[in-house]
Amino acid sequence: MISLIIPIYNEESLIDELIERSIKVLSEISDHFEIIFIDDGSQDGSMKKLLQHRDKEKRIKILSLSRNFGHQAALTAGLEYVKGDYIAMMDGDLQDPPELIKEMYEKLKTRKYDVINGKRILRKENIRRRMLIYIFHKLFKRLSGLKEIENIGNFSMLNRNALNGLLALKEKIRYLPGLRSFVGFSQGNIEYVREKRKNGKPKMNIWKLWALGSDAIFSFSKTPLRICLFLGLFGIVVFLLAGIYVLIAKIFGFALLGWSFTLLSIYFFGSIQLTFLGVLGEYVFRTYKESQNRPLYLVKEFYDD
Ligand code: UDP
Ligand code: MG
Repeated sequence: MISLIIPIYNEESLIDELIERSIKVLSEISDHFEIIFIDDGSQDGSMKKLLQHRDKEKRIKILSLSRNFGHQAALTAGLEYVKGDYIAMMDGDLQDPPELIKEMYEKLKTRKYDVINGKRILRKENIRRRMLIYIFHKLFKRLSGLKEIENIGNFSMLNRNALNGLLALKEKIRYLPGLRSFVGFSQGNIEYVREKRKNGKPKMNIWKLWALGSDAIFSFSKTPLRICLFLGLFGIVVFLLAGIYVLIAKIFGFALLGWSFTLLSIYFFGSIQLTFLGVLGEYVFRTYKESQNRPLYLVKEFYDD
């Protein structure tokens, strides 16, 4: 059985095409499939539309969450409800072409791979977004040390084995592309062009992208803490050298250093300390979130057989 999960947050205008194309490609693979839509607290007519489609096609299932929990939580919810042996995940805005699922499945079926990731070779989005995403991917690859992670997002397909691995990771701060890479197994890629969003505004605005990016970096890397430590040590060396200089200046009677130097060093060390506290805070905040152990999402209703 094949499962496809698609998170939906106010995508009313796209659902018809999304369903048509998804069913077409899945039917080419097998009649035995399910599509689970995760309604992430949509406020538009998405839910109504999904229910109408479900009336006609029972292989469409809907997992309705109690409110908006965010993209990564919605995907995780879907992954926990699928029954298939091969599981695909995809965005609901048609930026990821559903037709590629067939190629992914064919690669998985050879049993050479357990996970197939969609790798974007081109993005047809606006320049600012593309630039930010480019910087993030370069940085994340460097900091996380994960292999084969650059330009890989949520669009992917995995077999049951790999999914069980992914579901075993219970952390609440979730960056799925990173976690999926972390579980290992044999991973392959399929290259594709990430289309423009078919309709509607991106639901992930710059701030949500920022939050996702920092979740990814701080949950996969201790390098930011290391940098603080090294800069701190460097600061101590500078401080010692300055101390020696002042001492020598005093002994040999050079002109005394003026107030500007004192002021600047206060500002300098003050701001470094604040930055470090901020970095530390990012980790402490995430530790706190994990220890609260709140559920990642709550289900209002599951429309299933
Ligand atoms: N989405 C969601 N919950 C959210 C934000 C987005 O379920 O809080 C869904 C959205 O409907 C879409 C997918 O996640 O199907 C990706 O969202 P979007 O296209 O806005 O993100 P981007 O393309 O910027 O990654
Ligand atoms: Mg999108």
